[in-house]
Amino acid sequence: MGTSINGDRLFEQAFHFSTIGLVLVGMDGKYLKVNGAYCKMLDCAMEGILSHPFIKHIHQDHQVEVQLSLNTLLNQETMYVNQEVMLHDQKSENTWAELTISLVTNEKNQSLYYLIQVRDLSIQKAISKRLKVSEAKLNQVIETVPSGLMMMNREGEIIFANKLAESILNSRLDAQSRIVYNAPEWKNRHLDGRPMEDHELPFSIVMNTKESVFGVEHMMEGKDGGKTLISVNAAPLYDEIDQIMGVLFSITDITAQKLTEQQLLDANLMFKRQSEIDGLTGIANRRSFDKTLKGEWDKSIKESSALTLIMFDLDSFKNYNDTYGHQQGDDCLRQVATAVQEVVIKDDAFLARYGGEEFAVLKSNATKEESIRLAEKIKETVYKLNIPHENSPVDHVVTVSVGVAVKEDHTYLSIEVFFDWADKAMYQAKRNGRNQVLMYQSNV
Ligand code: GH3
Ligand code: MG
Ligand code: MG
Repeated sequence: MGTSINGDRLFEQAFHFSTIGLVLVGMDGKYLKVNGAYCKMLDCAMEGILSHPFIKHIHQDHQVEVQLSLNTLLNQETMYVNQEVMLHDQKSENTWAELTISLVTNEKNQSLYYLIQVRDLSIQKAISKRLKVSEAKLNQVIETVPSGLMMMNREGEIIFANKLAESILNSRLDAQSRIVYNAPEWKNRHLDGRPMEDHELPFSIVMNTKESVFGVEHMMEGKDGGKTLISVNAAPLYDEIDQIMGVLFSITDITAQKLTEQQLLDANLMFKRQSEIDGLTGIANRRSFDKTLKGEWDKSIKESSALTLIMFDLDSFKNYNDTYGHQQGDDCLRQVATAVQEVVIKDDAFLARYGGEEFAVLKSNATKEESIRLAEKIKETVYKLNIPHENSPVDHVVTVSVGVAVKEDHTYLSIEVFFDWADKAMYQAKRNGRNQVLMYQSNV
């Protein structure tokens, strides 16, 4: 090796041009030598700091720590010490730095000075601070969105879930739990209760089609038998090389909403039923009769089929009320309705209270003979109830007068005329002395 290389000079140059801050601190704790990189960090002139105590440029909070490190080295307990501290410059601005401190000794092992390497950490600190802030912000967003959020990996394991998702699914869903999307403790069912196959679950659909799904509604039955109805949106998650790495879920608990919907439907149905049922007798009311008559009429025209209308009315019922009171009159109407309903249902016909003490029966596809037979059966049934009616001019029990109208297969007439036939026949039965059946004859 040539001797032309001046070691001291080389050291001097390396010291000054190093991009790492370099500091020599004497055993009295004062600066002996500093380089440009260090001065730049502290934003001060080199001459200005020499002979000043090094510790002065360490933030107050870290001074004790640094002093301890210097002592440790002095006691030769270790070769060097690494620590992150805040440097404190003259303008009272702080810079994060990593110090690597070692003690330089001579051949007699006498301590000469401390060599301190100073790496500027301000950029790393700023980046990590910003990352922490954005992570905190993201967490805040994830925890405040009004949906349960979950992430599953390709294997269907839940690797992330926010608190709302945990609460909806009533489970702890951290990555350690390694719960899978089709865990047996969650029985997945369709809303109508049918079990949901694996391939029907949103996770499978997204993995198979690589497309998002929206608003998949299903039911999850927990271990305790509790049912939770959820609506699921799911989308594929891609990695940097565009491969599916999992599925992102947004879930909403729709149990309460569905319950309300069902209650409304039930209430509606009940209201509809109630609006078609006669409050006193429990059989179909006038409104329901009108609807059924219209339907059966249209059907019989369309199919050219027969339709029978039987009207019957309690005889001398005003008199009954006057004799036994309105309350008992009501009981009588109820008894008649219940008994006739049984007969009518057996004959596959339809009974309604038309109004007051008047009732109507509809029967399709019956001949005139069959219709008369049914009408006679109704009359007999009421008679056999044997409800006393001592002031009736007809008999000693409650009786009815019955009118029958039959529209035969190809007869052409209007619904009003058809109704009129039955009405006319009934009043004819009244005129003829009551407690009897009369069929409308067009030639009569
Ligand atoms: P007819 O033999 O000609 O049918 O004579 P009627 O007395 O039965 O006929 P009318 O039309 O003169 O009287 C009907 C009676 O039916 C009068 C009314 O008070 C009674 N009525 C109607 N609806 C009800 C009801 O809901 N309850 C009770 N208790 N009576 C009723
Ligand atoms: Mg009457
Ligand atoms: Mg009447």
